[in-house]
Amino acid sequence: MRFLVDLHTHTLASQHAYSTIKEYVEAADDKGIAMFATTDHGPDLEDGCHPWHFGNLRTIPHIIDKIAILHGVECNIRKDGSVDLDDHYLKRMDIVLAGFHESLAPTTKEEHTAILKRVIESGQVDVLTHLGNPAYPFDIQEVLTCAKEHNVAIELNSSSGINTRRGSHPNCVVIAKMAQQLGNTIALGSDAHICYRLGDFREVESVLEESGIGYDHIINTSPTKVLDFLESRGHAPIESLRNFFTPF
Ligand SMILES: [Zn+2]
Ligand SMILES: [Zn+2]
Repeated sequence: MRFLVDLHTHTLASQHAYSTIKEYVEAADDKGIAMFATTDHGPDLEDGCHPWHFGNLRTIPHIIDKIAILHGVECNIRKDGSVDLDDHYLKRMDIVLAGFHESLAPTTKEEHTAILKRVIESGQVDVLTHLGNPAYPFDIQEVLTCAKEHNVAIELNSSSGINTRRGSHPNCVVIAKMAQQLGNTIALGSDAHICYRLGDFREVESVLEESGIGYDHIINTSPTKVLDFLESRGHAPIESLRNFFTPF
C-alpha cells in the first residue's frame, strides 16, 4: 500500500452512506490503512449531519485497535464563500474538508472561482474536495495559486467519475498537473460511502499516472506527513497520534 492514509470517508451518519466507525476500523486493518479521517457531510446537504454530530466527535478515540482516526467534516460551500458549520464546531475538528454539493446550484465559472477563493482566504478549510466536478467549472490556475499561497490542500477524489460526478476525470488530470507545477499540497480521498471502499485509490492512481506527477506533495503517503500538514494549518497537535507514530 503506497498510501497509508485516507482523508475522506462517510459513515451512516450521512444517510446515503452505509458503514459504522467500527466497520471502517476493521476495513483499515484488513487493507493496511494506518489512518483515516471520518468526514461526514455538513448540515446544508439534505441528509447531512446535525451540527451536534460534529460537536461530539471527540467521543471517538483517536486510536482504535491500532488504527488512527481523525475527526473531520466535509462542509458544503455556500454562495458567499462561507461553509455550513460555524467556528464553534470547526475549531473542534482535526480536519475540515469542503466542496461544492447539491446544496449550491451551479452558477458561472467566474462565480465559482470567486467563491473558492473566498473559501480559501477564510482560513476555515484545510482541503478542497472533488474540484474536478464538471458541474462547477472554475479557473484552475487562479484557484490553485490562491490555495498554494494560503496552504490549503487540493484533493484528488477517488469516487469522482465512478459513482458520481461523471466527467471529472479529464479535469482531475489537468488539476493534478497544475498542482504539481505550482507545488500545491495534494490530499487523496476515497470518498468511501461504505467501508469496503476505504483506501480504494484506483481512480486517483490513474489520474496520477496520466498527469505524470510524483508523490512528493501527496500527504497520504505517511500519517506523520498528514499531522505535519494539519499543524502547519494551525491545528493543535494531537499528542496521542504524535506519540503513536513517533518511532522509538
Ligand atoms: Zn463531497
Ligand atoms: Zn464526500
